[in-house]
Formats: sequence, C-alpha cells, structure tokens
Amino acid sequence: MDSVKTLCPYCGVGCGLELSPPAAIGRATNRDSQGNPIWRVKGDREHPSSKGHICVKGGTITESLEKDRLKYPMMRDSLDEPFQRVSWDEALNKIVERIQTLRNEQRVDAICMYGSGQFQTEDYYTAQKLLKGCLGTNNFDANSRLCMSSAVAGYIQSLGSDGPPCCYDDLELTDCAFLIGTNTAECHPIVFNRLRKYHKKNRKVKMIVVDPRRTATAEAADLHLAIQPGTDIDLLNGIAHLLMRWGKIDTLFMDDCTRGFPQYAAILWHYPPELVARKCGIRLDELEQAARYWADSERVLSLWSMGINQSSEGTAKVRTIINLHLMTGNIGKPGAGPFSLTGQPNAMGGREAGGLAHLLPGYRVVKNPEHRAEVEQVWGLEPGSISPHPGRDAWSMITGLETGDVGLLWIAATNPAVSMPDIERTKAALRQSPLTVYQDVYDPIETSSYAHILLPAAQWSEKTGIMTNSERTVTLCPQFRPPPGEARADWEIFAEVGRRLGFEREFDFVDAAEVYGEFVQLTQGRLCDMTGLSHERLREGPIQWPCPQGDDGTAHDKRLYTDFRFPTPDGRARFGAFHSNGLAEPTDADYPFVLTVGRLYEHWHTMTRTGRIEKIMKKHPKPFLEIHPRDARKLGIEEGNWIEARSRRGVAYFSVRVTKAIARGTVFAPMHWGALWAKRSEVNALTHSEACPISLEPELKACAIRLIPV
Ligand code: SF4
Repeated sequence: MDSVKTLCPYCGVGCGLELSPPAAIGRATNRDSQGNPIWRVKGDREHPSSKGHICVKGGTITESLEKDRLKYPMMRDSLDEPFQRVSWDEALNKIVERIQTLRNEQRVDAICMYGSGQFQTEDYYTAQKLLKGCLGTNNFDANSRLCMSSAVAGYIQSLGSDGPPCCYDDLELTDCAFLIGTNTAECHPIVFNRLRKYHKKNRKVKMIVVDPRRTATAEAADLHLAIQPGTDIDLLNGIAHLLMRWGKIDTLFMDDCTRGFPQYAAILWHYPPELVARKCGIRLDELEQAARYWADSERVLSLWSMGINQSSEGTAKVRTIINLHLMTGNIGKPGAGPFSLTGQPNAMGGREAGGLAHLLPGYRVVKNPEHRAEVEQVWGLEPGSISPHPGRDAWSMITGLETGDVGLLWIAATNPAVSMPDIERTKAALRQSPLTVYQDVYDPIETSSYAHILLPAAQWSEKTGIMTNSERTVTLCPQFRPPPGEARADWEIFAEVGRRLGFEREFDFVDAAEVYGEFVQLTQGRLCDMTGLSHERLREGPIQWPCPQGDDGTAHDKRLYTDFRFPTPDGRARFGAFHSNGLAEPTDADYPFVLTVGRLYEHWHTMTRTGRIEKIMKKHPKPFLEIHPRDARKLGIEEGNWIEARSRRGVAYFSVRVTKAIARGTVFAPMHWGALWAKRSEVNALTHSEACPISLEPELKACAIRLIPV
C-alpha cells in the first residue's frame, strides 16, 4: 500500500497528514508499548491549510490507534455489575426497545444523544436525521457546546449566520493580529507558527495578546494585556471608546452595512479609559497602545477561542469583538475579520450538519418554520415532524437525569465524566440514568463506568468521512485500516438503529459517500453551500466552502462577506450593545483565588488518546497548578509541594508550579486529567455550570477557589 493522505483528527486547525503503512517501513518499523506496528506520519505538503506542517500531536497520532480498544458490544443491567460481551443484535435491540417504550409513553423528549466534534460529518448528519427528523426530538447536543457555541451564537446574531469569515492566508496579510482569550501557540500551534513567522519578518505588523497568563503566545506579542479574568468586555468597550473619541471609525461602512451603532455608542461612554484600565488591572498607556494599534491598522485580524467562548457572557464577548470590526470596517477584506479558532477537528462540520440542540443541517435553526420545512422535505418527512423547540443542551441533559426527565442517554465520542463542569454533580447524575449507552473507541475511559451498554466505534483511519477545519476547508479522511474486533462507524450504528425502528427508507445508505451526498443537498443556496462537493471530488484534494455546484473550487473568494452584504433580512450586520457583568463567580474572602483552566501543547482534551502515547505522558505525567511567587510565599508553599484547591463544589489536589507567568490572585491548571489518570486532581471538581444565557456554554474557564497547603 502506498502512503495515504488524510486530516489530523485532533484540533480545529485541521492539518493535512501523510501516512505510510508499517510494512512499507520494513525493519525499522516502530511498535507501541503493546507491540502493535506504528504507521509513520508526516505533514502533507499539498494540504492548503497546513502546507506540510504538523505539531507533536499530529506527529504521534498513530501511536494511539491500537492500544486499549473497545472491540465488542458489552452490556450490564446495573452499574454495580461487570460488563458481559454481547452481540450487536442484543445491544441494538435493547436500545431500540427503550426508544420504542419512550415513544409509546409519549416521552420522545426523554431520548437524548450527546455527540462530539470528533464525529465526521456523516456521523453528525445521520444522528440529526435519526433524532430530529425520525424521532421528532431535538435532543442532540455535542461537546462543541462546551467549546464554541458562543462563537456560533455571536456570528448568527451579529452577521446573520454562523461561519468564520476569514481564512488562514489572512494571518500573513494583516497589519495587526488581536488575540484575545486564546493561547494559540499551544492550542492551535500551526496557525500560530504561521502568524509568528510573518510577524517576525514584518516589523510593522503588530501582535496584541490579551490573556491573564503570560503564555507562550503572549511572549511573542508586541503588547500583552494581562487583564483580570472576566474583564474582556470592559477592555473591548474601552478600546471602542477610544476609537470613537479619536474619530477612528469607518462611518461609511457603518452607514451602508450595519445597524445598531447609536445604541452601541451610547453604552461606550460608560467605558472611559481610566476606569477601564483600573477594572482590567492594566496600565492606561497599555490600553491606549492597544487602541492605537487598532486605529493605525488598515487590516486587523482578531483570533479567539475558549477564553472568550467559555463564559457566562460568551455571546456578548464574541459580539463585542465583532463590534470592533464593524466600527472600523475590518471585515470581508484580506488580512481582516473576526476569526474564531475552533477547538475540535470537525466541530465546524458539526455546525454545518446542525449538530447542536438548536440547529438543523445547512446552518438552519429549529425555531425557523421555513428551515424546518426545508429539512423535512429533503428527509421525506410529514410536515411538522421536526419539533419547533430547541432540544436539551449538554448541561440540561445532566439536570434532566437529576429530575428523571431523561430516560435514555446515548453518549458518543466524548468523555463527559471528565469534561463537564461540576464533575461530582455530573457523575451523580450519570449514576441516576435509567439507561446510558456509551459509544466510543477506547476502554477503559472514565465515562464507561457510568454506562449500561458499550458500543465499539471505529475511529478516524478505520472509516471514511469528511471533516471541515477552522478556515472552512473540507477534507476527505479515507479508511486505511480495518476497525478492530466488531467496531463500526458511528454513522452506521445510528443508521442501523434507525432501520430497526422502521425507518428503512430514511437510512438506506450504502456507504458514507451516499450519506454525504444527501447532506450537501441541504446546503444548497445556504451560506455554507457545498453542493459542488462529494467524496469523489474530495479524493482529488481538500476544497474550501462555499463550493456550490459548478464551482471548480477557485471561483469563490476565500473570505465571506467580501461584498459587505450579510445574511440578515436587510443585508446589514448588527452591532450588539453589552455591558460587562464580570465573572459568574467572583472571588471573596472565603474563595480568594480565580482558577483559570486551559490546555497544554502536547495533550488533547481528556487524554483518551494522548494519555496512551508514552512520549507525551513522559513530558506531562501529572497535573499541576501555576501560582505567582508572592501568592506562594504567602501560603508558605514552594515549587513541587502539593496543594488542596477547594471551591464551593469540590476539591482537587495539584503539584505546585511557582511562576511569574500568572498574575497574583489567579492560578492556572490544565484541564486534561480525569480520574483514570490522576485520581482527585480533576479541575472540573472545582468548576461551575453557570452558562451564557444565549449560547448556553458554561463558564468552564474560571471559578473562585481557596488554596490549602497539604
Ligand atoms: Fe493536528 Fe492541530 Fe497539531 Fe495540526 S495543529 S497537527 S491539526 S493537533
């Protein structure tokens, strides 16, 4: 077999990979710790998004493919019993029986599925058709709810549709990169390397980084604004105030292309620079410098990720970033625009396929009757089959277990027993579930302890499917290895359940290409039109959307909104006027530290893959907590000591790292470790579930804690 080209299945940067089979490497074949031969990986030079570059995660991905795989369906009657191997028939019939019972009891809204940005588009799409179309409940949500739903809501409310307007080429065309709430160097490294290289070469180009920590990203900036956690909107409104005061706004653009500036301008007078600098904990000249960089730049590119999205005012933060772009005309042109960096490899594909509880395929929303009718028509369903009510979001599935309103929870390709906020409450709720199906790749994994049925899923490399990265580039990921044991592709499992429920025609798919072919029909005429794409066409290489039928992949601009018309009823973008509310849980005398959480360069999410890669685990064997030297001295602790961190919800223990990279009064801990890897060191034992009222994304980024030396 020759080498195979595919996409890295870790983060939303979406780097192209080229893999060589172990046999082609001959005697030099590497093996993992369980003796399995390892495929060799290098970057795909022809991939338009990454041009051959990859990071350590992409470079070691094949070391995690064979180890600790769940190979057969398993079942048990209660969580106290051991699992027994069963046939696919037994497992699927049990699920079908449960779904039928709930339907007969008129409790279709007791059926919930919690999916993942690790899904390929075909997995997402088939799940939407099963839940939202055939069963008539919108209770499908994905872990993207914890990741970028604030970006989705912000784009929809400000610009009329989801969809990042920018592309990676903008990294090398901007005059000023404004990075807020993103440690891009560690979390989106290939994007950051491209920006840093360009920034180094072009001394006139400015880089502003807004982050309470002095991260690797902040180290590279011309200006690092180490603001107090929760003061992002103060800062953004303060910059806008100065731009308005200096007359550095694009009135022509605003007059022609936007609505709502007067209301926004009215609130900006409440953000004089002296007050803003004081609230944010930065110097006045730093604030003025940031505003000056915006004012003096023809093209400003904003990048953000979880530091903005994971907030009780996440949508307001996103819209306030977009406001700056609208008031300065920094959108729809090269080197400029509001660019959210997606966390997961195919969270973008999930958005396209309608993979959140309020969405439908093709960037549609369940509340819109025309949208529902369009989807019902393509799915061949009776009018009114799709519910007009948004389904349960991720956290509401947990609270629904507590109240007994969830009667079947089907979790796939995600690990909520680690990643949900307030983890002890989450685990207690999972223990109450009448029936939990857990469909995943690995075993053991924290969430499998809470399941009654385990379904073995084929992962990336073992199934063919599509993924879309942060810049809207769509890549075919072909199958090049057989799945282990009896593992099946997620979409095949959903389709099989659909057929057993009597929806033979709806799920009569021969292969993933056919699923994708049906999905793209639902994008026709939408902003994300992909009717020109198919598996066959994508075998020739990745293509960025929009790509309507007849587009050879080059006919469209790489950016959205280049005509300055937006998909709102009147074609104009909307300003949003928001005051800052700060953190949902501010510090007080009992809980005087802000805990902020984040990722490390080497690890991925809850370590289901990276925890099984030796060189990564050697680098980061255990969790830690960063603290400023003066805070450490006050507590009488030193580097390497263990500390107890306690919030109103729980307790966790960490090894201490003393560093000036973190501001006084704030501490940082990585999000990765669950109970499987480090018992009693789970950061989500501390976090809370307060969420943005619009996007319903929880404020995982910050909570109040106290620290007790042990
Ligand atoms: Fe994979 Fe992201 Fe690393 Fe690229 S930057 S190789 S997509 S983990």
